[in-house]
Amino acid sequence: MSACIFCKIIKGEIPSFKLIETKLTYSFLDIQPTAEAHCLVIPKYCGAKLHNIPDEYLADILPVVKKLTKALKLDVNNTPSGEGYNVLQNNGRIAHQEVDHVHFHLIPKKDTESGLGVGWPAQPTDFEKLGKLHKELQAALADIDEKL
Ligand code: AMP
Repeated sequence: MSACIFCKIIKGEIPSFKLIETKLTYSFLDIQPTAEAHCLVIPKYCGAKLHNIPDEYLADILPVVKKLTKALKLDVNNTPSGEGYNVLQNNGRIAHQEVDHVHFHLIPKKDTESGLGVGWPAQPTDFEKLGKLHKELQAALADIDEKL
């Protein structure tokens, strides 16, 4: 039997405040919300990090997140100011992941106190460094495409 807490939620072995369920996706309320109506959307596939999840499961997730934004009326404000929301997906302890089953947080952002707080250690633009990195990444991507 899987020890994964989110697998147990999917199977109904432990309770959850279920929202949307599809063939590939399950969503429910976070029980330690950072803001009211903080939701979690998870694939019905147990993998710790994003790269462990098959594409078909990932493709099913964002439409569920979008539907939840509508249910939470987060779609009402179409201007940049005022109420917003964050979609967050953590990978690894250093990146603040506690549950090793991929999950997307949908977190309403109504004020500066509640919801997600973001540290953003932006560095000054360095075109030379970026250009070198870009070449390396293009080569890595071409390598991946060749293997597909
Ligand atoms: P993360 O830090 O990205 O791994 O987030 C894990 C999230 O799962 C946290 O926000 C927890 O509050 C939430 N969580 C853990 N156990 C449960 C549970 N049984 N039901 C709902 N949410 C949970």
